[in-house]
Amino acid sequence: MPLYEYRCKYCKNRFETLRSLRDRDEDVECPACGKKGAIKEMSAPRVFTSSGGSSCTSCSSSSCST
Ligand SMILES: [Zn+2]
Repeated sequence: MPLYEYRCKYCKNRFETLRSLRDRDEDVECPACGKKGAIKEMSAPRVFTSSGGSSCTSCSSSSCST
C-alpha cells in the first residue's frame, strides 16, 4: 500500500499515512490538530516492502530464484 506525505494547511504539521488508491484524494485528518485539511505533498509515493529492492531475504546470492 502506498505511503503518502501530507502537510496540514492549518498547523503545518507534516505526516505520512498509508492510503489506498481509492481514498487518496479524500480529505485527510491531521493527527496533530484533528482538522481535515491536510494536503498531499507532491513527492512520489513510497511503497512498504520488507526487503526493499528486487532481491528477497531468503536468497543471499544475486540470482534470486523465487
Ligand atoms: Zn493540523
